[in-house]
Amino acid sequence: MSGPGGVGKGTVVARLLELEPGLRLSRSWTTRPQRPGEPDGAYVFADRAEFERRIADGGFLEWTPYPGTGHLYGTPTLDDESDGARDRAPIVLEIELDGAQQVKAVHPDAVLILIVAPSPEARAVRLRKRGDDEQSVARRMEVGAREERLGRQLADHVVVNDDVDRAAQEVAGILRGHQTGG
Ligand code: 5GP
Repeated sequence: MSGPGGVGKGTVVARLLELEPGLRLSRSWTTRPQRPGEPDGAYVFADRAEFERRIADGGFLEWTPYPGTGHLYGTPTLDDESDGARDRAPIVLEIELDGAQQVKAVHPDAVLILIVAPSPEARAVRLRKRGDDEQSVARRMEVGAREERLGRQLADHVVVNDDVDRAAQEVAGILRGHQTGG
């Protein structure tokens, strides 16, 4: 699942996991500092040297510097946390588009769902609420507009987050359709 910052992707994903307990969420690595109040488990917070060591070890399915900030983000290789039956659980990645394209190249059956905000204003409000400073809000609005345009070209499905529950239900329906070969 991809989408510009501030569209409420994280909330939709959290609701999706409640609706579909059989899904597993991948935990990304990042070199971005932890935000105030952000849970420790939101990411594996790593310094740049650790991150680069993992790249060298081939430990990422995909990784990329985030356009606005240059912080690195990456999805650990998927067999990393293997534990029997859970291995076969469909995995949800919440990542930006460059990474999504890398995943598609390796796993052509991956489904790319773009989450978009009902309006740019709604997105700006969410970015500010998170405590990002005005400069980074402005930067993310710009990066996000580009990401939405590209995303609409690349995505298999576009879901508008006008209501978290409704959007999560729509995503769940899309995934069920793919699992039954639809
Ligand atoms: P944030 O810093 O707001 O948590 O995330 C910034 C962006 O990085 C978001 O678009 C988020 O989806 C993306 N992101 C998070 N984890 C990963 C990852 O593992 N790989 C890639 N490519 N992007 C990620």
